[in-house]
Amino acid sequence: MYCYESRGTDVDHFVPIARDPARTFEWKNHILACGYCNQQAKKERFPVDLTGHPLLLDPSVDDSADHMTLASTGQFFDLTPQGRETIDLLGLNARSELVEARYRSWRGVIRVFEQAAREKPTIDADDLEDLRFLPVVDAFHHFAHDVATDRLIHKAVAPELARYALHSLPIVKSIFAGCRL
Ligand SMILES: [Zn+2]
Repeated sequence: MYCYESRGTDVDHFVPIARDPARTFEWKNHILACGYCNQQAKKERFPVDLTGHPLLLDPSVDDSADHMTLASTGQFFDLTPQGRETIDLLGLNARSELVEARYRSWRGVIRVFEQAAREKPTIDADDLEDLRFLPVVDAFHHFAHDVATDRLIHKAVAPELARYALHSLPIVKSIFAGCRL
């Protein structure tokens, strides 16, 4: 849940046991994580700001797209202090296999929109069929979120494609009703 890898093998305590033993068995404090995130990256670390608010994003509550944006290179760029801390602490840009996987996912999403834009005025359900499944779902989530907030204008995506995606977004949202886009 931290790095979007699909190898969830560990149950991580979001607030580490050492910091708050009372939350050891609290279900909401349990995060499905890969071994690297849990044992190598996060361990007992739990940075907080001056008010005591966690700087690490809680994947069961927070939406990462509010705190970081996914560039066409597969790298995340932070938008908030929590986004920056989460990227650094979990090594989200330092783990090349994650960056490459996100790059491929991002390209897959862009290809679907590019092809649809050449053929029809707006995207439809058939175009998006391939995007319903992993491994593109997280890249698609960030893409849709960035389109909705106009962030794509600042990225390496053609302005015409950004406009097409923005125009298609209500349809995308209706197709993916129930998904957090
Ligand atoms: Zn992980």
